[in-house]
Amino acid sequence: MIPAIRGTHDILPGEVEKWQHVERVARSLCDRFGYVEIRTPVIEREELFSKGTGETTDIVQKEMYSFTDKGGDRITLRPEATPSMVRAYVEHSLEHALPSTKIYSMGPMFRYERPQKGRYRQFHQLDVEVFGLHDPAIDAEVIDLAWSLVSELGISETEVVINSVGCADCRPKFQAALLAALGDDLPKLCQDCQRRAITNPLRIYDCKVPADQPIIDRLPHSVDYLDEKCAVHFTAVRGHLDTWGIPWRLSHRLVRGLDYYTRTTFEILGQTLGAQNALLGGGRYDGLVKSLGGPDRTGIGFAAGLERLVMALPEHATMAATPRAFVGAIGDEPRVDALRLLRELRMAGLAASMEFEGRSLKAQMKRADRLGARVVLLIGADELAKGEVTVRDMRNSEQRAVPRADVVAATRALLEGQ
Ligand code: AMP
Repeated sequence: MIPAIRGTHDILPGEVEKWQHVERVARSLCDRFGYVEIRTPVIEREELFSKGTGETTDIVQKEMYSFTDKGGDRITLRPEATPSMVRAYVEHSLEHALPSTKIYSMGPMFRYERPQKGRYRQFHQLDVEVFGLHDPAIDAEVIDLAWSLVSELGISETEVVINSVGCADCRPKFQAALLAALGDDLPKLCQDCQRRAITNPLRIYDCKVPADQPIIDRLPHSVDYLDEKCAVHFTAVRGHLDTWGIPWRLSHRLVRGLDYYTRTTFEILGQTLGAQNALLGGGRYDGLVKSLGGPDRTGIGFAAGLERLVMALPEHATMAATPRAFVGAIGDEPRVDALRLLRELRMAGLAASMEFEGRSLKAQMKRADRLGARVVLLIGADELAKGEVTVRDMRNSEQRAVPRADVVAATRALLEGQ
């Protein structure tokens, strides 16, 4: 046996229904909020991520699956969707092609991380992006979509955390204050933080090393360094959230270091998930489209981990299977008609199965049971002679003879009735 690669996983029946449920709710919400789906390739040029995700990030420095293809090009399995979404937006001039540039995508991402509960090397994200809109109401709408997703999935014990990291004008002042506040404490921080202090100081706030925390807790807060415009924007975002009854908490630690991240950042945390507790995260990145060669357009979005949403679903979440009919036949001649009936049911849009191997009635009924069939249709020599089918409602075991011509309609009534 050749096992699956570490950090990847099969999604099998029993589990896959939960995935379909999460995907259905996500699509339905995106549709209601006015987002249209796009699908981008899993492979992209490596430079899209070194530029788009950022040279100094852990993703680019340590986690990318990159290789040289047979033509000599550097290729990367996408570690996140945003750079691909921006590329597609620019490459196809979507701002002109679409009535509004609110787009979403779902699919696998790849990061060479240390696998653990809630963290995989191939995982899946719902990615939502809005281009070209500045209004704080759109920041709040994106957070509302994320919040509605988690709520509609019935995931409780969640927390919305938000922050503002300012813009290219006010962030240098914050960064200077941060380095000044670190001062003599810098050598006491972990190696990663010391490196970050040089390459990307804001990322020090992401540090999880316990010994560093007392020092990091004393560092300045980005919201105290916002310029007038950024402060007004952030106040408006919080105002909308309050008006719409979406609870939030300010987290000074929610800081994205890269230059193109601006203003609003947010995450939704799940309390039941353990160490990997971020269900989703996002923010505004007003400089990214331009830095990837596009027009000067704002951007805001989030990515939700589908594995984590599935893990956080409540126990009782019902993923009802499609009601199904089962066709049973006794004897060779009835079997020919049973196969014909099976096709008729399927062509009429109904879910229907038959037993192909075990021929005894007992074996067929056993299969019907395992499949959870709601209706069993039986054809024997008797039925065939009379031009009828025995229709059994498995919920109450009542059965009756139905003329062959009416069987599909009778089955539909039983499958679609309550
Ligand atoms: P990020 O793209 O790192 O901001 O992550 C957005 C969301 O994707 C997180 O909140 C997680 O839900 C999910 N996620 C990120 N990395 C992984 C991973 N390695 N395994 C599973 N889910 C992940």
